[in-house]
Amino acid sequence: MSELKCVLSDWDDTLVETFAGKAAQWQEVRRRLDGQDVPLELIRKHWSLGFTKLRDVVCDISPGDEERIKQAEALIAETYVDFPKKAFEETEEFLRWVRRSKIQLGLVTSLRRNELYKDFAVTGIPASTFDAPGGQNLVYTEGDSVELKPSPTVFDKPLVHLRRHGVAPDQLAYVGDALTDYYATKDADLPFVAVTTGPTGYEAFLDAGLDSARIVRSIGAVPRALERLGTN
Ligand SMILES: [Mg+2]
Repeated sequence: MSELKCVLSDWDDTLVETFAGKAAQWQEVRRRLDGQDVPLELIRKHWSLGFTKLRDVVCDISPGDEERIKQAEALIAETYVDFPKKAFEETEEFLRWVRRSKIQLGLVTSLRRNELYKDFAVTGIPASTFDAPGGQNLVYTEGDSVELKPSPTVFDKPLVHLRRHGVAPDQLAYVGDALTDYYATKDADLPFVAVTTGPTGYEAFLDAGLDSARIVRSIGAVPRALERLGTN
């Protein structure tokens, strides 16, 4: 494998702690919408769908029900900062490693851009963390690909950008906490490292066929895993 030049990362439950707080927010949104209690298990089951699809499941929105979408969106906006995400303790250390190693860092997330930029402000991880050559940042969100993870098309735009700036697919790796992250990289033929800080555990990645050396407990252990794999 060639020298590692770029790490693309998932956002939620990879760089920032998300599920605990945001699952509670989704429950609150539905409660305010029509008084219904949504089981945590339902949210967990659909967690990897991407923001908009998860909204429709949690809020029981039928296709085209614009009135209910409007109500749900208002409640999402109203409650978003009451359930803040926070950077994992080891994220700062990981970001220092990225800077020290002069590695380009990018985000590929199924979150919406609007919510992501609110997260940047709350978590203290500025958007500039993902600045890339060419005056653009490497931040790809729900609207940037036709399909979401596990579709490998989520990597189309970042790969085009990176190639233009001299980074080949075998000089990058992707980090994520979900099986959908893994499957997307598999079909895109990109190296992948899993963190188990999200709802998906070690065994689930192993059962899905991921090498144990590529499964680590948190973002802080990612540099070592990449080095071990000879991707650095
Ligand atoms: Mg995630």
